[in-house]
Amino acid sequence: VISLVDVHLSLGRGAARVHILKGVSLGVRRGEAVGLVGPSGSGKSTLLMTMAGLERPDSGTVTVAGKDLARLDEDALARFRGRNVGIVFQSFHLVPTMTALENVALPLELADAPDAFARAEAELAAVGLGERLHHYPSQLSGGEQQRVAIARAIVADPAILVADEPTGNLDERTGRGIVDLLFALKRDRGATLVLVTHDMGLAEQCDRVVRLRSGTVVPDDAPVSA
Ligand code: ATP
Ligand code: MG
Repeated sequence: VISLVDVHLSLGRGAARVHILKGVSLGVRRGEAVGLVGPSGSGKSTLLMTMAGLERPDSGTVTVAGKDLARLDEDALARFRGRNVGIVFQSFHLVPTMTALENVALPLELADAPDAFARAEAELAAVGLGERLHHYPSQLSGGEQQRVAIARAIVADPAILVADEPTGNLDERTGRGIVDLLFALKRDRGATLVLVTHDMGLAEQCDRVVRLRSGTVVPDDAPVSA
């Protein structure tokens, strides 16, 4: 359901320009859970954003749910994302002027879905934040903000969920609850999961682990280091 072929991507301007993805080819099947691991700076977040259509590659092709993303203009791409892809950002990207409830209801409202606030409230309860509906992001702890971001990413039932360190700020027990919630999407609704994680327990729970090193995928048979 996701296919990348020889993707190169650079970001930044002038002296800060960095060649980040250096020929990444990778396929993810529908309903598969893939763990994306690798050292800090290896390009995991960049790769995830490229899969989600938030970064456009310099060269190579990215196909998601049968669509060549390069053929979509920005508006079409935004609509495509809204319908198909849930995204949990490493730094959450919550709207600071909106409450937790408003943040989670937003994707439903953008899709003109009915019962946006009732569904958002149920999703916040599912991530353990039923008592924090009317708090603003600045009034929430890091782990609480992370759970709001997860509720927002899954509230519209995306067929594809990409999540950047979804348990990075959570204690073990809360993290397990969130992981159960994500894998329930896969089990019950056939969702495809791509999860960036440093948590080896979570990586092992995935169907497959992809290792990134310096912007390239480490072949399965290569010796593992770092
Ligand atoms: P971490 O585990 O620390 O989150 P990561 O594997 O997610 O790391 P990326 O965030 O994808 O790594 O970044 C890969 C490299 O690209 C890093 O060296 C980073 O400094 C660089 N980089 C990322 N974004 C930009 C940008 N907008 N401009 C310039 N360089 C960037
Ligand atoms: Mg990252």
